[in-house]
Amino acid sequence: MNGFRERFARFMIGRYGMDRLGQFLNAIACVFLAAGLFSRSRWLDIGTLVFLVLCYFRVFSKNIGKRFEENQKFERIWFHVSEVFRRWRFKLQQSRKFHIYKCPNCRQKIRIPRGKGKISIHCPKCGTDFIKKS
Ligand SMILES: [Zn+2]
Repeated sequence: MNGFRERFARFMIGRYGMDRLGQFLNAIACVFLAAGLFSRSRWLDIGTLVFLVLCYFRVFSKNIGKRFEENQKFERIWFHVSEVFRRWRFKLQQSRKFHIYKCPNCRQKIRIPRGKGKISIHCPKCGTDFIKKS
């Protein structure tokens, strides 16, 4: 087993190896594989194979600059995606605790805590008072 590890280590010299994009591709392959356990669709097998091949093609690639660039691109996209999800979750949490009302006069959005019954709301922008159920 030690001999194999040594040979593998020598094989990996000058090759790119694993990165975030590689882990992501691997994870998608696992999702396809798991989905394949519940469905007999041939496309799931093909998907598993495609993502695994992509992942290991990158791991064993000797074009390190290109792979690094791909990972940078992936990290940038991943950041935006996670940002969208973070904002979406924040909005959901807010909507559970607060109610957003619009001032009938100036359309200013006002955040009111939920569950306080009928309350008078004072618009901080134009000074209009209006009554709403929270
Ligand atoms: Zn107003």
